[in-house]
Amino acid sequence: MPAPKRKPAASAKTAPARANKIEDKLARLGLRSDMDLVLHLPIRYEDETQVVPIREAGFMIGHPAQVEGVVTSCEIQFRPRRQLVVTIEDQSGQLVMRFLNFYGSQTRQLAVGNRVRARGEVRHGFFGDEMVHPAYKIVLEGAPLPTVLTPVYPSGEGLSQTLLRKAIAGAMARVDWRDTLAQPLLASLELSAFEPAVRLLHNPPPEVDENALADRSHPAWMRMKFDELLAQQLSLKRAQVARRAKGAAALPVIGALSDAFLKKLPFELTGAQQKVLTEIRADLRASFPMQRLLQGDVGSGKTVVAALAAAQAIDSGFQAVLMAPTEILADQHFRKIAAWMQPLGVSVAWLTGSLRKKEKAEALARIESGEARLVIGTHALIQEAVQFAKLGLVIVDEQHRFGVGQRLALRNKGLDTTAALDSAHTVPHQLMMSATPIPRTLAMTYYADLEVSVIDELPPGRTPVITRIIDQNRRDEVIERVHAAALEGRQVYWVCPLIEESEALQLQTATDTHATLVEALPDLQVGLVHGRLKPGEKQDVMDAFTRGEIHLLVATTVIEVGVDVPNASLMVIEHAERFGLSQLHQLRGRVGRGSAASICLLLYQGPLGGTAKQRLMTMRETTDGFEIARRDLEIRGPGEFLGARQSGQAMLRFADLETDQWLVEKARTVAQTLLRDDPATVEAHLARWLGMREDFLKV
Ligand code: ADP
Ligand code: MG
Repeated sequence: MPAPKRKPAASAKTAPARANKIEDKLARLGLRSDMDLVLHLPIRYEDETQVVPIREAGFMIGHPAQVEGVVTSCEIQFRPRRQLVVTIEDQSGQLVMRFLNFYGSQTRQLAVGNRVRARGEVRHGFFGDEMVHPAYKIVLEGAPLPTVLTPVYPSGEGLSQTLLRKAIAGAMARVDWRDTLAQPLLASLELSAFEPAVRLLHNPPPEVDENALADRSHPAWMRMKFDELLAQQLSLKRAQVARRAKGAAALPVIGALSDAFLKKLPFELTGAQQKVLTEIRADLRASFPMQRLLQGDVGSGKTVVAALAAAQAIDSGFQAVLMAPTEILADQHFRKIAAWMQPLGVSVAWLTGSLRKKEKAEALARIESGEARLVIGTHALIQEAVQFAKLGLVIVDEQHRFGVGQRLALRNKGLDTTAALDSAHTVPHQLMMSATPIPRTLAMTYYADLEVSVIDELPPGRTPVITRIIDQNRRDEVIERVHAAALEGRQVYWVCPLIEESEALQLQTATDTHATLVEALPDLQVGLVHGRLKPGEKQDVMDAFTRGEIHLLVATTVIEVGVDVPNASLMVIEHAERFGLSQLHQLRGRVGRGSAASICLLLYQGPLGGTAKQRLMTMRETTDGFEIARRDLEIRGPGEFLGARQSGQAMLRFADLETDQWLVEKARTVAQTLLRDDPATVEAHLARWLGMREDFLKV
């Protein structure tokens, strides 16, 4: 149902053209319907309920005061610059109002003899007490004072508070105030009714607890937050139902390929891998699209599980695609998986932006004809030219590195092609993988339409990485240690600092570090890998490292995700204080992959700031990715933790996922009950809250 059209906010006297302009400005704030306006809540308040004598206002330095007086002079002065200077007077004293920007009409408004109510901070100027640019209005003697606090709204360009207040007051007079939630339910949740809560927030009485309003702990705010979270949960559940209503090609065959693949693996699956595989296999058999997030700490063995999911798609006669965020990682997947699959007769295609024209055309043709059963690549896969013959499964590795849009784009590759085969088969199954675990509350609010599988066990035989924090000025000792380790046959990563401002600078540092290490360690093979190398060169270096021909690999963060060289067992990270927590964890995950005890040395440049210190301590204390994610969330807060592109923009206006966690839980339970028992309430609630944000959440 479309939201009711907002009538022009201003009075009937307003010319239509102007009203339109105001509507446009309101629309830019997302305010289209009356209910949108009503739910546009103040960010703070001004107390205009009292007038103080001018003399007293002079003592309230640093606090805004409201005074009332009669104009005794009003003149435009030209020194030191053009300005309007107005003096007002009450029984207690006089005050200058100074306007550096003003309209000519203000001299008439503020003519001598008029009565003015002005609000601002008094300062002691050269010519006595004055207010610079006070808010003011002309009043008649004895005009009543407001009885409620004056709201200040979030505003946009060209929208004055006066205009917004008028528009909102108008909307409040027109909307349907009926509560979307029944009284008994509200009582059981100890929540206030909708109308009084909203009215209080727009126009609180002067005796209200202003702190509770400011930190949004007031019961009226609780009701708003609950409603918002409930709407979010309802819309997410809806999205889930809608997904289930879509068709997908069932991939029921766990056949020859899967069996042969498992037989050829040089290891047994861990219990945790087995468990998630069972979950994924069941999903793939269904004829509605899977949307599953596979979480597992760095090194927990997600790739094999992904390959087995792909095998099921292929066994069932469909294509599977695997997209990775970097060329190095995609390449590694390609080599590993192709090495497993090709001997079993599966044709694997490889697609990245750096392919030569001819190679690309070849790959595209194989993908389009369906000859390539498995396709592996980078975001080049999203490019328009890529057409699948029969795409059944989309796998996205390190999914948090991609935006929602990119993931959807890849999934949509499956839309038209499978539809041609059978109109019921519309969307491919989707498996997303991440080593950045999303804590429960976040998962519940951001990913409600996502099944989650967790690999909560590492393959056997790993020894946990020992982490040491070392001052940068002990770098020489560290180089000694690297030397000794290399002579023992260990391989070493040396990670160069992240330089946010400049990739060129980052590159320079890596090159310099490489040069100094080559010089300091003449008997070792020292390699260098960074983002600016051509993919082929990058690969050559990685290959040499994998073969053990390079002892020490100097690298930028290009090695951050996924790179898997089991013999590497020492890592040095320079300027570790500049890295984020999850990035450090990812980097550290490059060692500790084999059976040798691994060490990670975090070099830092003091003095350390508070959060940098917290991050490094966390790294020293734990290797558990879930624990690290939890601390990271604690340090950074959910918005930053997820990143804007991941969270899909300010989805929650009122609720705060950290402080309001308990409300999230309540909203979730209530959403489930309402969806089951009370569709009318669901409709009403969504109509009220989602009017302006249908794009609430698109996962
Ligand atoms: P991640 O979950 O970080 O993507 P990978 O899939 O790259 O981890 O696996 C890390 C390493 O562990 C790889 O070398 C892989 O072959 C190996 N591995 C995976 N599963 C097992 C297992 N069950 N037993 C032994 N090694 C395994
Ligand atoms: Mg991986």
